Amino acid sequence: MVAAPWVALTFRFTPGWPWPESSWGLDPLYGPDGWCHSCGTPLHEQTGSLVLQSRKFPTGPVWVPNWRFNCVGVSAEVAAEVVRRFDVPMREVLKPRGVATGAMQLLPAVCATPWYEEGPLEAAVHDRHQRYDGERIGATCPECQRWRWLPISEGEVPIKRDSLNASGDLLASHEIFGDGWRTFRHLVFRRPLGEFLADAAPRVWSVVELELA
Ligand SMILES: [Zn+2]
Repeated sequence: MVAAPWVALTFRFTPGWPWPESSWGLDPLYGPDGWCHSCGTPLHEQTGSLVLQSRKFPTGPVWVPNWRFNCVGVSAEVAAEVVRRFDVPMREVLKPRGVATGAMQLLPAVCATPWYEEGPLEAAVHDRHQRYDGERIGATCPECQRWRWLPISEGEVPIKRDSLNASGDLLASHEIFGDGWRTFRHLVFRRPLGEFLADAAPRVWSVVELELA
C-alpha cells in the first residue's frame, strides 16, 4: 500500500492551561461572542491569540494544551523551521496581559465539505460509544444548532481524498466532534510536516497513518 500524503498525530499528554479559565481560553481566541456558550464550539475562524497561564507554560518543542485540542503549539526554534519548510500560517502564543512567549500556534484551515461518508462515520461512532451511550451518536446543540458527533479519533474512518481541499499543510475537518464542553475538529498534517513535528518531540507525539477513500 502506498503511504497516504496526509497523516494525523496523537499526543501522550497536554501541558499548559488556557487563560482565562472562565472561558476555557475561548475568549481571547474567538472573542466573547465568537463561541457558543452552551457547547463551547467556535462560531467562526480564530481571530485572536491563544493565551496560556504562566504557571506550567509548555516548554516542549511541540504541544497541545489542555482543553483546546485543536491548538498545536511549537517552540520558537521549531517555528523558525516550520516557516522555512512548510505552508502553515502561525500566530503568536501569549501569556496573560499580552506577555510575549516566543511560542507559536499552527493554524489549521477548516475544510468546506465533509471528510467522512456518513454511514461509516456513524458506524464507527456507534461502535466506540454504544457501551455507555446506547444508540446516541451525536447531538445538535440547542443554542448554536451545530451537530456534533460523539468523539472518535482520526484514522478510525477513511477520509474522502477530495475533501482535503483547503490550502496549506494543516487542515481541520468540516465535521465537529464532542460532548459536553469538549469540542474539536479532526486535524490532518501533510506527511512531511506531520513527520517533522513528531520527530521534534518523539516522546510525546506519534504519527497515525490514515486511509484515504
Ligand atoms: Zn452550541
